[in-house]
Amino acid sequence: MSKPMHTSSYYAATANYDSDFPQLAGELTVDVCVIGGGFTGLSSALHLAERGYSVALLEGQRVGWGASGRNGGLVCTGQRKGQGELEEMLGEEDARRLWDYAEEAKATMRGLIDKHDIQCDYKPGILTCAYKKSHMPEIREDVAHMNGKYGYDAMRMVEKDELRQMLATDMYHGACLDTDAAHLHPLNYALGLAKACDQAGVKIFEGSPAQSLQSNTQGNVIRTEKGVIRANYVVVACNGYLGRLEPRMAPKIMPINNFMIATEPLGEEGARALIRDDVAIDATKFVVDYYRCSADHRLLFGGGENYSSKFPSDIKSFVRKYMLDVFPQLKDAKIDYGWGGTLAITLNRMPAFGRLENNIFYAQGFSGQGVLLTTMAGKVIAEAVSGTAERFDVFARIPTPSFPGGTLLRYPGLVAGMLYYSMLDKLGK
Ligand SMILES: Cc1cc2nc3c(=O)[nH]c(=O)nc-3n(C[C@H](O)[C@H](O)[C@H](O)COP(=O)(O)OP(=O)(O)OC[C@H]3O[C@@H](n4cnc5c(N)ncnc54)[C@H](O)[C@@H]3O)c2cc1C
Repeated sequence: MSKPMHTSSYYAATANYDSDFPQLAGELTVDVCVIGGGFTGLSSALHLAERGYSVALLEGQRVGWGASGRNGGLVCTGQRKGQGELEEMLGEEDARRLWDYAEEAKATMRGLIDKHDIQCDYKPGILTCAYKKSHMPEIREDVAHMNGKYGYDAMRMVEKDELRQMLATDMYHGACLDTDAAHLHPLNYALGLAKACDQAGVKIFEGSPAQSLQSNTQGNVIRTEKGVIRANYVVVACNGYLGRLEPRMAPKIMPINNFMIATEPLGEEGARALIRDDVAIDATKFVVDYYRCSADHRLLFGGGENYSSKFPSDIKSFVRKYMLDVFPQLKDAKIDYGWGGTLAITLNRMPAFGRLENNIFYAQGFSGQGVLLTTMAGKVIAEAVSGTAERFDVFARIPTPSFPGGTLLRYPGLVAGMLYYSMLDKLGK
């Protein structure tokens, strides 16, 4: 079998190294088998190996091949839901725990980048821009809440006039600047984690999709095309690519596709003319636009999504129209790369953590907030495997309802809902 390739993208073209882990062949017995080599699986494997467990990681394609190697790279503060909403939904105590957890996630990520010298273009700053005037009061309220109640002072309001100096577009009504949020090259972060796993003794196998997971009180058996792993513990970290591997986890998530493009290099001056301070941007549209400049001064722009098993035939044109809405001045810029990836969302947009019988753990459905939260998910999964599940359980007890209709019928309802909201976006409502 020829080795699977990373999807062609700006990230794959600028990867720090070409991962080269073998395919699983034969039988292996380990303490823990991690299935999935994205941020969640790699971080779980690394933290488990550091705790002294023997760990094997099975990746169906290449490490970082999934959403982790293709995303916008925005390391947004907090959970996908605002703290005010979480307080109402879960009570003060758990909302505060989730905030602390997200702050620790940043520190953990930076710690790993430093410790393992991961070259992934980590840069501070995200501007969250109000797409509609009616979004400004909510942003203002959120900033006041975070500054006041949480003492988080890295966040401030940016009014329309100031924003126009920072960003070469008239599209937005103001913004919130978060100088402790960040952006990075996600595939290089994933490859750095894989190298750290390898050095910590994790046995990584690429091109080795788990075909079945059988489990009883004697342990767990995971089969691939050419091999078998026996393990006391299993971590399922397949997210949007879970497919049919574990039918009990599947109804909790909905795979959706997001798309990105990279322009030709615009030169440092050209890049700074668009985004003065080299921060990343996301906008409060229901179907989010997110963008930033790369280390070699391209605009990396994410926009548009679909809910089918197929990507648009021409991703470059599909995303370019969203980019030109923001920056019409880029009409002559060549688009060098266009790619898509699949992420998983949950009904309440909070990640779904859980455990099944016989020591099977999972974390999935990061709903567009996974760059920050997945590394931490791996850390608390490792704690839970070691017998301290307190922090894992803060997430595990968040109600994660199944999508109505289960895996078969979940799409029609979602598509109708998503199309309705994206229509409101277009109407500026
Ligand atoms: C285009 C795009 C833009 C995004 N932008 C952002 C952003 O800017 N900020 C943000 O926070 N989030 C963003 N996200 C979401 C973020 O990328 C994800 O939440 C995160 O990467 C999920 O990581 P993961 O490890 O759980 O899953 P993945 O990275 O998808 O990894 C799952 C892995 O499991 C493997 N796998 C699946 N089945 C099997 C099997 N049976 N056997 C072995 N291996 C298997 C897959 O091959 C895959 O490599 C974006 C996603 C996309 C697609």
